[in-house]
Amino acid sequence: MLNTESQYRLVFCTNSDIQLTTLLNGLNNIGFIGKTVFGSNAEQEYCVGDSFLQSLTFMGCSPYVEFEPPAQLKPDGVADFCFIRILAAKQSSTLYHAEQLDNLKTIPRCKHCRKVIGGWAEQATALNTSNHWQLNCPSCGDGLTQDDLDWRKASGSGNLFIDIVNVYLQEAVPTDAFLQQLEMISSSPWQYFYTKSNIKTKLLDRQ
Ligand SMILES: [Zn+2]
Repeated sequence: MLNTESQYRLVFCTNSDIQLTTLLNGLNNIGFIGKTVFGSNAEQEYCVGDSFLQSLTFMGCSPYVEFEPPAQLKPDGVADFCFIRILAAKQSSTLYHAEQLDNLKTIPRCKHCRKVIGGWAEQATALNTSNHWQLNCPSCGDGLTQDDLDWRKASGSGNLFIDIVNVYLQEAVPTDAFLQQLEMISSSPWQYFYTKSNIKTKLLDRQ
């Protein structure tokens, strides 16, 4: 796996029953992903496809984004170019930042009452170390799952994730048409967020 620690990225996430291969085929068919970075698809790391730049809107004045992997790149090298990594989690509703909630500067909101979660620093520390997600909203008292928290585009949960690595915070936003294409492929709605953390590999559906 390419070294992407601390690199900014745009992440799409959903909960879907589809197989990973169905997602990969769908992303290939619409031209979002192109060739694999290293010839083998074991790591599910892809160069951007022909329609990639139509799927996202880059903000600001023509940012320079490198899409070609450097010639000397090694499979565990530092990835200084924009590429796409597809990840499948072991369980549905896996929080991308599980066990590293303290990395998040954003305090989530309760989706039921829209209030920020009071005492979040203490809650995050407890949730980082517990095996069971147990959290009641301090404001409305509702029991909350990972999916009930609004991270305001700082994190998200699901069983399928698409990392667009080396996209800076809010630098690119997906078009509505692309979000609809994703929904068509997986029969499920997608969310997106921006982060510079890797998901913990032990949460993934492979080693
Ligand atoms: Zn609430």
